[in-house]
Amino acid sequence: MRVVLAEPRGFCAGVERAIEIVERALRKYGPPIYVRHEIVHNRHVVEDLRTRGAVFVDELHEIPRGAMTIFSAHGVARRVEELAIERGLPVIDATCPLVAKVHNEGRRYAAHGREIVLIGHAGHAEVEGTIGQINGKVHLVQTAEDVAKLEVSDPERLAYITQTTLSVDDTRGIIAALRSRFPAIVGPDVRDICYATQNRQQAVRQLAKDVDIILVVGSRNSSNSNRLKEIGEELGRPSYLIDDASHLQPAWFAGIDAVGVTAGASAPETLVQGVLDGLRAFGDTQVCTLAGVAEDVRFRFPAQLSDA
Ligand code: SF4
Repeated sequence: MRVVLAEPRGFCAGVERAIEIVERALRKYGPPIYVRHEIVHNRHVVEDLRTRGAVFVDELHEIPRGAMTIFSAHGVARRVEELAIERGLPVIDATCPLVAKVHNEGRRYAAHGREIVLIGHAGHAEVEGTIGQINGKVHLVQTAEDVAKLEVSDPERLAYITQTTLSVDDTRGIIAALRSRFPAIVGPDVRDICYATQNRQQAVRQLAKDVDIILVVGSRNSSNSNRLKEIGEELGRPSYLIDDASHLQPAWFAGIDAVGVTAGASAPETLVQGVLDGLRAFGDTQVCTLAGVAEDVRFRFPAQLSDA
């Protein structure tokens, strides 16, 4: 069996930074370090940090007063920032700078008197954080059909922003529906969708041309991993989202010549290598990697941790 690896795949700069923020905080301040929500959407990453002294909580009231607290890569609402101040929690913010950029955009549009349309998935941590960062009305739309149901105060004063980890194609369809119904709407086109999401989606498209089935390494609650699986399926390749090698099912590979493997932006490369080992256990395999975009994005660390 041929195994083809997508390139790029796995960790993005925002996820690497968020994980390293927790590691540096553990080194500098010692455990326990409290983290609001999963630092990134990957079960293995969260479990590993938990064994080293990170304590993951859903809400700030679970954190003892004065304890060192980290906000996850997905960002938080203003209300959460204010609550942390009220509770006297020293905070290190691991919000990805690309998510923070979308917050800034939304706040700027709102300050100019525009109502905001946020294209994103209801209930996702990033979407809740973004809505909560904007002082003013925010309408959430998930599909082009939702656009038809929108009720806005002034169609001449609208702006849209998007979640960073959406499907580029789906988002274009929703933006087209918005522009068709509200010709005066302004927004960043698909530029809010981050470089890592775009590159991994482009790579999975390439992969689909060359393989029979696609394995996406990532957790179920990882938005960008789910999009990779959906793109594989849209391109006619059976696609499976797996946490790790233990999820491999021999029946998937019956009569298959080539398997494509990629990983969401929150999935570590060690899990991908584990999947390759799992595939080798099924029989003779040759592994190759597709040529793809080389990424060199790096983000600065919060000032509190620059010396850790
Ligand atoms: S997927 Fe994009 S927005 Fe999300 S953490 Fe990674 S770089 Fe940041």
